This record gives sequence, structure tokens and C-alpha cells, in this order.
Amino acid sequence: MHSNASDGTFTPEQIIERAKNYRISGIAITDHDTVAAVKTGQFLAEKNGIDFVPALEVSTSCLNGRMHILGYFIDPDNEELLSMTVEMALSRLKRIEKMCEKLNEIGVRCDFDEVKRIAGLGSIGRPHLAEHMVNNGYVRNMREAFRVYLADGGKVYVTRYSPTPKEAIDIIHRAGGLAVLAHPGVTTGAMDFFPELVKRGIDGIESYYPGHDQIKTQRALDYAKKYNLVPTGGSDCHGFRRGNPLLGIFKVKFSILTNLRERWESTRP
Ligand code: AMP
Ligand code: ZN
Repeated sequence: MHSNASDGTFTPEQIIERAKNYRISGIAITDHDTVAAVKTGQFLAEKNGIDFVPALEVSTSCLNGRMHILGYFIDPDNEELLSMTVEMALSRLKRIEKMCEKLNEIGVRCDFDEVKRIAGLGSIGRPHLAEHMVNNGYVRNMREAFRVYLADGGKVYVTRYSPTPKEAIDIIHRAGGLAVLAHPGVTTGAMDFFPELVKRGIDGIESYYPGHDQIKTQRALDYAKKYNLVPTGGSDCHGFRRGNPLLGIFKVKFSILTNLRERWESTRP
């Protein structure tokens, strides 16, 4: 799930509070390109008897497009991991500033300071810019903001730095974690690219996911079995940013976490 350290609306405190209320046994905060919420989340989870996995979700890019790679059980103090997140954060900031400029150039008023304010402490992204555009009445909703302006191919799209999947997998490994392909069923081309990721050292594939129907879930599970990798799952809860919060609504069996931890322990020196 995502906290307000990236594009979720819940603070780590609110995540743990909700997890407690829904009697969740284990969680991972997997913010986009940042581990800023990990330590607070871990501290509060452990205080409340909730199993906590330090994690993040790295946006990578390759010839096949964008892939999100989850890093589970990473060391949030690992220097190389942190410097990657810093580089990505700077690039995110510059990119959103540039997109704001382009919006103003085409007559769509955009206030970069206001977008930064919406992002708050979070790692700034296009969803924050989209929210600003909705607030200003330039588009009816996020979907329209992306379709017309912000998506790759949209009117003001600007690219940003992201590592390749191989770089992300290697950095996650060197930070002591396991690398897992996120939501392959909803990322164009990701499922077909999976055998390549296996060659590059991926450890698992997200199988249980709100956007996966039975066929997609089964395909991911089949891949996990075929390549002897761990199937994982998650709600991808963004708080209130994408409809209602899924934390506690979309559930994953605890055995998934047990298997993931066993795999992680087997890779420890
Ligand atoms: P960014 O991190 O700035 O590249 O923005 C990526 C995020 O934007 C994704 O994680 C989604 O939450 C959101 N997003 C991407 N495409 C769309 C879309 N077509 N409609 C709504 N949200 C989108
Ligand atoms: Zn993702």
C-alpha cells in the first residue's frame, strides 16, 4: 500500500490505525520510489503487533515500457538505494515543474507551488498535478487529465529518470531485499516481459491484485510455479486517492507473507 510519502492519502499512522481496525496481520508500505514512510510504519506496526515488511515500489523503464518493481525486505538505510530514491525524487520534481510550464504555455493555468502543496511530504507525481487540474476545473477527473495532458503522448508529457528493471532488481538485492514484478496484469506488456525479468534475477510476481481477474491471477501464479518464484499480493491501497481505500477490503492470505519471508531468509548470507 502507499502512504502520503508517495501518492497515497494516509499517513503511516493512519495506515497502521486502519490495519489494526481491520485486524490485518501483516502489511508492507510500498511507496513509489521512496522509503520515507518505512521507519515510522515499522515502529507503529510493531508496537501494534502487526507484521511489517520494509518495502518500496520502483518505477522502472525499459524498451517494453514502464514496469513497477517491488522491493520487499529492503534495508531502508542502504546508501545505494537511498541515492537512487534521491535521484528519482529530483527528477520527479523537475519533470512536474516542466509539465506545469508546458500547461501554462498552452493556456491551462497551473501553479507549481500549489501542486507541491498537494503533494505535501509525498514524492510528487502526475496524480498531484492531475488533482490540481481537477480542482481548477480544467478537466472533469484524473482520467481525463491523464488522457488529454499527462499520459505518455499527452499534450504536456515530459519523461523523467527511472532505472531499468535490471538496475532496480540489482539495487534491491544489494539493499538486502527481494524484487517482485508489481501488478503484471495491469501493466501493458509486463506479463510477456516476465521471462526476461526472470533472467535478470526477479524473485517473485504479484499475483493477487484488485485489478487482476481470475485469468490474470492464474497466469501470474502459473509463471511463479514455472520459474519457482514467489507469488505475492497486495491491495495497492492509495487511501482516498483512487476511490475508496482498499486496505482491509482487498485481502491477501497470510501464507503469502510467510512464503515471501521464507524465500527472503533463504537468500540471506
Ligand atoms: P508518475 O509517478 O508521476 O509517473 O505518475 C504515475 C502514477 O499516475 C501512477 O502510479 C498512477 O497512480 C497514475 N496514473 C498513470 N496513468 C493514469 C491514468 N491514465 N489515469 C489515472 N491515473 C494514472
Ligand atoms: Zn504500481
